[in-house]
Amino acid sequence: MNTEVLQIGGIDVEIVHKKIKNLHIGCYPPEGRVRVAAPSHMGTDAIRLAILTKMSWIKRKQNQFIRQERQSPRRFVSGETHSLFGRHLRLEVQEWEKKTYRISRQSADRLLFSVPAGSEAQQLHLWMNRWLKSVLREYAEPRVVFWADRMGVKPTKWGIRPMKTKWGSCNPEKGTVWLNTELAKKPERTIDYVVVHELAHLVSPKHDEKFIRVLDRELPEWRSLRRELNDSQLAAWVD
Ligand SMILES: [Zn+2]
Repeated sequence: MNTEVLQIGGIDVEIVHKKIKNLHIGCYPPEGRVRVAAPSHMGTDAIRLAILTKMSWIKRKQNQFIRQERQSPRRFVSGETHSLFGRHLRLEVQEWEKKTYRISRQSADRLLFSVPAGSEAQQLHLWMNRWLKSVLREYAEPRVVFWADRMGVKPTKWGIRPMKTKWGSCNPEKGTVWLNTELAKKPERTIDYVVVHELAHLVSPKHDEKFIRVLDRELPEWRSLRRELNDSQLAAWVD
């Protein structure tokens, strides 16, 4: 196995030649290192060309990692910015006499988090996630019903749970659909895209032509919604 580093389109690309059939390009966190596994017989020019055609994907991926790095972990203190349905809200943490918590949206840009005195950040994090899950459910519930009805599919069950790498998932055999809790932070239109995407898997489990036809018909702007969602980061504080 021999490794070389090529400068392609202004970035360093690590090339490893292997006994494989197809070229594979990987972009890895934290800084977006690019590593390419190429068939042993493939020449430098062909490799260079293959990488150039994937350049916009690589750049997008790298930007995504950079943004992820920049996003510092939340401490759940007053003044911090938290996202809700794509809007940035200013958090205000207030201790109160009660043993329970309450989170309420005070105005377009303020979130009031009332907590028992002496609560730990870890606990606030758990409460915040529970709350995000409930507001996401409130939004998504009628949307799942609306889209399923429109698309003529019947999920047997749907739910919300934290996921590390995906916005949603579907098990077509069981008919189940899951949405990532983090979606509560994203614009409503992008949540609809994930709902439509997962429900479309009940029509076709793969991302094949049949699947694409469903998306094109139901949500013609799905490509730009997908880009919007993938360019935004999966926050570092998914549990
Ligand atoms: Zn899919």
